[in-house]
Amino acid sequence: MHFAVLAGDGIGPEIVAQALKVFTAVAKKYRLNIGYTEALVGGAAYDKYGTPLPKETLELCERCDAILFGAVGGPKWENLSAELQPERGSLLPLRKFFALYANLRPIKLYPSLTASSPLKDSIVNSGVDFVFFRELTGGLYFSLPKQIADDRKSAVDTLRYSVKEIEAIAEFAFEAARARRRILTSIDKANVLMTGVIWRETVTALHEKKYSDVNLSHMYVDNASMQIIKYPAQFDVILIENTFGDILSDEAAALSGSLGLTPSASLNKKKFGLYEPIGGSAPDIAGQMIANPISQILSLALMLRYSFNLPEAAKNIETAVERALASGVRTKDIYTGSQGEILVNTAKMGSTIADNL
Ligand code: NAD
Repeated sequence: MHFAVLAGDGIGPEIVAQALKVFTAVAKKYRLNIGYTEALVGGAAYDKYGTPLPKETLELCERCDAILFGAVGGPKWENLSAELQPERGSLLPLRKFFALYANLRPIKLYPSLTASSPLKDSIVNSGVDFVFFRELTGGLYFSLPKQIADDRKSAVDTLRYSVKEIEAIAEFAFEAARARRRILTSIDKANVLMTGVIWRETVTALHEKKYSDVNLSHMYVDNASMQIIKYPAQFDVILIENTFGDILSDEAAALSGSLGLTPSASLNKKKFGLYEPIGGSAPDIAGQMIANPISQILSLALMLRYSFNLPEAAKNIETAVERALASGVRTKDIYTGSQGEILVNTAKMGSTIADNL
């Protein structure tokens, strides 16, 4: 088993180095027979090969079981043509090439970080710990026709979903709910959208057929956007289509207090996945070693869980992160100056987590 490491630009290499530190420690502890190979992507690849996704990098990914991705982009490459731009020219083609249809984003507020959340203690004290399963390759962003009229007086986007597409992401979410608290909230707009009606019917049928042990409820997306803020503790697994998921998962990520804490995974049917922090290359802090590596380290944990089927090693990393935070270590983005907090740099946060495994 093998994974590709594409650190990319900006803070990417700084935080990926910490995830690799943690990987080395976890591989030793569990005697894992997993290797990795590093390759260039994004602006760094453009500088060397004239393209953000060189053939060599793509071929490496094809030979691997997963990709650990840092972040790409930055002001240096902003004026390149669309297909050469780091994000559009590497991340999007990778998602398409590997048919990564399921996007996972765990949302968690660590008890020791409640002060960093924008929500009141009275709301977050009941706990924030849920995960989005968002459909990533269909719906409004990809259905055709999608065009602007020649006279530029109108435009059209199409929202289409097939039962097959809905079943694929729903199966995944139901399975995940079984391994968690067995609560699945399916989000749609079935009161207005026909795709919402089909979405709801398909999820309900699958529930009756295979997953009646999971507690399923349906929620309209407008209500869900409110419930995430008012009572986040009610959620365990959220199943959602592409556009709504894009919006609500960003809203929910804000609950944890920093972009530097949230990992993500994009998977295909064979459980090949691309694992990356939800944040970008953060050019404003790159090179200073102050970025928070936790989002990258938790992306590694997701990779071990979903692509390598190693739930114990994944849990061990997640617990080590929790312990590090409980001990008071904080990178700048989550440092409030409260008593007991210790301000550390990127490397120290990485080694504290590795030591806590
Ligand atoms: P960003 O996510 O890079 O940064 C937004 C803010 O969050 C910044 O203040 C940054 O310092 C902070 N931040 C992000 N990650 C952090 C971390 N781990 N620790 C501490 N603070 C962190 O978004 P942006 O500024 O809009 O974009 C910067 C570049 O990143 C652009 O070129 C953009 O295209 C690219 N980008 C790439 C990805 C990706 O690779 N998946 C995603 C988003 C943006």
